[in-house]
Amino acid sequence: MDHAIQVKLLGVRGTVPVHGPEFAQFGGATSCVLVHAGGETVILDAGTGLSGRAWQDFFPNRRFSVLITHAHVDHLMGFPIFPPLFDGGCQCDVYLKTREGCSGREQVEALMAPPLWPIRTNALKAETRFHDVKDAFSIGPVAVETMDSLHPGGSTIYKLSYGGTSVVYATDYEPESDAPEDFCSFAQGCSLLLLDAQYTAEEYSCTRGFGHSTIGRSVAIGAACGAQQTLLVHHDPKRTDEQLLELERSIQAQNPRIRFGRGGEEVFL
Ligand SMILES: [Zn+2]
Ligand SMILES: [Zn+2]
Repeated sequence: MDHAIQVKLLGVRGTVPVHGPEFAQFGGATSCVLVHAGGETVILDAGTGLSGRAWQDFFPNRRFSVLITHAHVDHLMGFPIFPPLFDGGCQCDVYLKTREGCSGREQVEALMAPPLWPIRTNALKAETRFHDVKDAFSIGPVAVETMDSLHPGGSTIYKLSYGGTSVVYATDYEPESDAPEDFCSFAQGCSLLLLDAQYTAEEYSCTRGFGHSTIGRSVAIGAACGAQQTLLVHHDPKRTDEQLLELERSIQAQNPRIRFGRGGEEVFL
């Protein structure tokens, strides 16, 4: 069956990777989402979800694009070990916004260099091109629109549209209200919204300003922007499966179109 957009969540954990039986269901890998649309392969963020083998079945193209929200390490740690980057037959376009005077390439090179990492970007075999992030651009037939997130040091919110469907990826976002006008108009009516929901309201009293949303606020935003489906992501590293499932029951009682994203799940739009 043909779908305009196929999405696979490879990592939905926030801040740092976690492992252990208590995280088995939602997964411990950090931010990474694979998207197929219009014959293009787009990777949203290169967290540890990009490691391992989970990407392989869902990766038909040797030409791919990596759209990075920002260079915090939980969003970049998978990049230096992604096998297609060491395949001379691959072509990769990396998008990362210039921040604090550093180009996207320079931000990646800040991680991929001794003493933090043994090899530099010049060891990549794939034909790799770095791009700054504009308000709008396209990847083949896929339209990409962006908006600036509210996050310490900045982050980019991406919207991918193809064939009348759209995915909005808004992680590392600390909205200032339950219906932020700019975001709600940007994401209005999208097919799938992937939205940061790291904290509970109680935790937020100590984590305000860290650059993340709360579960309650993100549930309200998912409804306010009319997303057909909302998956909450960037789960706090201490949040166990049991806790997420319990929180999810109360979310679903309010709105069956909103739940927590699970590492490894696929969504067909
Ligand atoms: Zn993050
Ligand atoms: Zn961040």
